[in-house]
Formats: sequence, C-alpha cells, structure tokens
Amino acid sequence: MDNFVVSARKYRPATFTSVVGQSALTTTLKNAIKSNHLAQAYLFCGPRGVGKTTCARIFAKTINCQNLTPDFEACNECESCVSFNEQRSYNIHELDAASNNGVDDIRTLIDQVRIPPQIGKYSVYIIDEVHMLSAGAFNAFLKTLEEPPSHAVFILATTEKHKIIPTILSRCQIYDFNRITVRDTVEYLQYVAKQENVNIDVNALNIIAQKSDGGMRDALSIFDQIVSFCGKDISYQSVIENLNVLDYDYYFKLTDAFLQGDVNSSLLIFNEVLNKGFDAHQFVTGLSSHFRDLLVSKDAQTIALLEVGADIGEHYKTQAQICSPGFLFQTLKIANDCDLNYRQSKNKRLLVELMLIRLCQLPDEKNNNISSGNDKPPIQKIEVKPQVPALVVEKKEAETQPQAQTQTQPQTQPQTAVAPPVNVKVKENKAPAHASQAPGRISINVREVDKPETVYQQGQKVETALKNSPFTEKELTEAWRKFTKTIPDEVWVVNFINANTPKLTAGTNFEITVTNMLQEKELMKQQSDILSFMQNELNNSLVKMSIKVEENDGNYRSSSPEDIYKSMAAKNPALVKLRSELNLEID
Ligand SMILES: [Zn+2]
Repeated sequence: MDNFVVSARKYRPATFTSVVGQSALTTTLKNAIKSNHLAQAYLFCGPRGVGKTTCARIFAKTINCQNLTPDFEACNECESCVSFNEQRSYNIHELDAASNNGVDDIRTLIDQVRIPPQIGKYSVYIIDEVHMLSAGAFNAFLKTLEEPPSHAVFILATTEKHKIIPTILSRCQIYDFNRITVRDTVEYLQYVAKQENVNIDVNALNIIAQKSDGGMRDALSIFDQIVSFCGKDISYQSVIENLNVLDYDYYFKLTDAFLQGDVNSSLLIFNEVLNKGFDAHQFVTGLSSHFRDLLVSKDAQTIALLEVGADIGEHYKTQAQICSPGFLFQTLKIANDCDLNYRQSKNKRLLVELMLIRLCQLPDEKNNNISSGNDKPPIQKIEVKPQVPALVVEKKEAETQPQAQTQTQPQTQPQTAVAPPVNVKVKENKAPAHASQAPGRISINVREVDKPETVYQQGQKVETALKNSPFTEKELTEAWRKFTKTIPDEVWVVNFINANTPKLTAGTNFEITVTNMLQEKELMKQQSDILSFMQNELNNSLVKMSIKVEENDGNYRSSSPEDIYKSMAAKNPALVKLRSELNLEID
C-alpha cells in the first residue's frame, strides 16, 4: 500500500504558473528573473496558507535552475531542480522564526550566509514567521541584511506585517499575498479531485472553500478529511454534515416565511435547526450572511461579491428578486442587533425567536409604508434601546408590537410629546405622587409611565393631541417657577434651579445658563421631567431645552464646595498654600 501523502503536500505547486490565486505577484517575480533584477531581500506578507513559503521555494529553485524554460520557469529536470524537488538542495535554508527566534539562532544563520554555494548561483534563506524574532535577533540580523554577500537572497515571510520593524521593511521588496477567492479554491479542488478520482459535488467544494477562508492549505486538509470520511463519492449533504455547516436551504425557507409573515413556520424551522445540534449564535450569523448575500445578488454590479456555486447562486438571484432593498436593510439590521445582543442575553433562545418574529412582521409594515407613502423605515418603532438589557426591551416590544400595527396612522409624531391613550388612566391616579418618587428610579419602564404623569394636573382635561399654543417669556418663567416647586431633591439643586431663569431663544426653545458642570449634570438628569412639565404647562409640545455652561467666578452661591474653593483660590492664591500646608480637605 502506498504511503498516504496529504494533498497539501502532494499538490504543492512546483512552478509559478501553478500557484493558485496570486498571478499578479508571480508574474512580477518571473519578470524580475527574466530581467535579472533580483533584490537581495524580499518580504512576503499575507494570511496563512496562501502560498508564501511555496512561492519562496519556487523562487529559490527558479533562480538556481541551470536550464530555465522559455517561460522563465524552473525546468524541474536539471540537477539543481531535482535536488530542490527531492528536498536535498544545499542552496536553500529555511528557518522557522516561530521556534528559533533567539539571537543565537540568527548568528548561526549569519555564519552560514558567508559561505558561497557549491552548486548553483544563489543561496536562498527563507525565514518564516519573521515577526516572531526577538528584538535582539532582529538587530543582529539587520547588519547582514544591510550588506549581504552577492550570492545571498533573503526571503522573509510573515502573517503580521505590522509587527516588522521599519528598518527591516525599508530593506526589503514587499509582496502582499491575497486571500485566495472561493472561486479559485473551488477550481483547484476540482483539479485535485479529478487527479484523485474523487467524485464530488461542486456545491460541496464551495462549502469547503468557504470554510477554508482563503487558505489553500486549509482547503486541501478539509478535502482530505472529507475523503477519508466519505470515500470517493461525496455529496453536498455529506459535506455539510461533516463540516457542521447549516444547509442554505434553511435560510431560503426562512426568508420565504419572513416574506409571508409566517411566524409559526419560522419558529418551527429554527427549532429543527436546534434539534440538529446547531448552535443558535451560528444560526444568527449565518442568517445575517444570507441577507447580505441576497442584497448583493440584487444587483449585477455586486453579484461578483457572492461566493457560492452556480445553482445556489441562481437560487439567491431568484429570492433576491422578491425582496425589496428596504426589506433587506431591515432584516440585516435586525439580525445584526440580535448577533450583538446574543452574548449578554440570559435567554438566548427567546432572543432568537423574538428576532424571527420581528422579521416576520416586516412585510406588513413595509406595505403600510408603501400605502401611506412614508419612506421612514418602520424598524424605528422596534429599536432596541441600548442601555437596557436586551431581553426586557424585546419582551416589551413583542407585547406592544401588535398594537403598533393596528394603529392606522403610522405618520411621524414627536415621540416625547404624545402619550399613548392606553396609559392615561394609570397616570391620573398616580399624578400627585410624582414629587415623592425616589430619585433613583430611572429604568425605561418607569420613565415611560412617568413622563406623561407630570403632565396632568388634577381636574384638568386630558389632552393627548399635538399642542402648540404660543407662549411668552413671562409665561415661560412662571412655568419654570412652578417646576422648581416639584423638585424633591437636595436644597442646593432647588436653589440653583430657582436662581437660573430660562431665556426664550429660538421659537419654542429655551436656554438655561449654569455656571459649572455639576449643575449641568443635575439639569441633564432632570431634563425629561423638566421638558414634559414645561410642555404641558405651556400647552406646547414643541418646547425644547438647551443648557449653556458659563464659567462665572462671581457667582458661587449655588456651586458645590469644590467650585467655591476653586473660585476663591483664583482670587487669593495664598489659599492654595494654606490648604496644602495645613493639609486641609474640602468638606
Ligand atoms: Zn532546472
């Protein structure tokens, strides 16, 4: 029985032309050989498994070949080429800097560099993972790199170019290797499969290529793994089972369910996915990619970004036809939000299910928008509020969603101003309680109940429609004074809010001037209470507040002790000395 040789080694390219996916780069190298313009140091950068070391070896072989082909490739027949191919050439020296990164390792290499080659013209030194060299080793190497003997050629390879010090970079010709595209990988795998008499579905090869993420070495190892598992006849189905990849079909079926608003089907499909042992997070990211692929399939220009096999590509094109761009933008946003919230969620399954429900509700909203001529994405209604744990919000959304949909008028209304009619009853009972509320209660739920609460005064007729009665500066000041009486907080806050009268600026906007950041912070904290009070008091829901900070050292009546000290110290520097000498603390 033959010894099994892994495909990555067996099918390692022997000439520049057979290197996959780096044609621009190999052409440049070949041109350099053709014109005999060899640099003494090269830096090959790029992700793992894309052919850096392979190209370095081919380059070493080619510049030493005694009988170059007309195409300036190595002949693979002369003594030098044969010794290279049998890995017994003395013209090539490889150092793996990942495991030999000390000064001594580099010194040994430098000693070798001085000795000219016995056969062939060049000694080639390949230093792999060169970014791993220690600082000392880098410095020891630098001298040799500056003045190498004419027979020496250095090829440094790295996956992390940014870690190479500039003094090395400036002495090298730099070549950037690309990730190998899915298409190129598939083509090469097809060639390998043919050589190995393996019968494999092209969609299956696509999955392998995607899994390998641009690295040919990984692609070939996965290929070997599949062959050893499934034998010589390999179907798409067996590959996705082996690689634990979720079938595209699930995502296509789900998207159909979203378009039809079919919540039940989408939940059942998700359940099936979980039962097959797939991870829910993987499912969510896969769904995001599916929406992305649909989006790029909509346009002839972007379809090149779709990296799937031909018949699956057709399926994408067909489904993309029935999805509007607006729909896809929203699905992407919703799926991405779910992805972001996934880690912090306590009930991950529910989180994903809520996402599915929201996705199912999209088509309805989309139609509403089209009929009312409103281009604003309905997604805003169900936005996740970032400062609240994801689940709480989403649960609430799920409850309120149907209501939102039954409302016939999706026109925009300023959010802060309009209290949903549903909440009114609650408020009337609780209205006077506002002043005694604990100041720390600021969860979203509380706020939503609180906001309209400040609006109602006893016996007053409840108004929920948009209000915009004009008002004067005097009325504004009066309203402000009334508000100060409702503040339950510390005395100094009341004092400073009292001391600052609002100024009417543009239209319905008013401005409050404060003298330090502490005051500003306090006002910000109360901003929403202030606004809803003022809006109701002035019977104008467009009222807005802005805060102006004005440093004013004369007025520290309402400042914090620290501010008072600073302002006094500015007038009398001796105070600072006194404080430090007596080691006084500000109380
Ligand atoms: Zn040769």
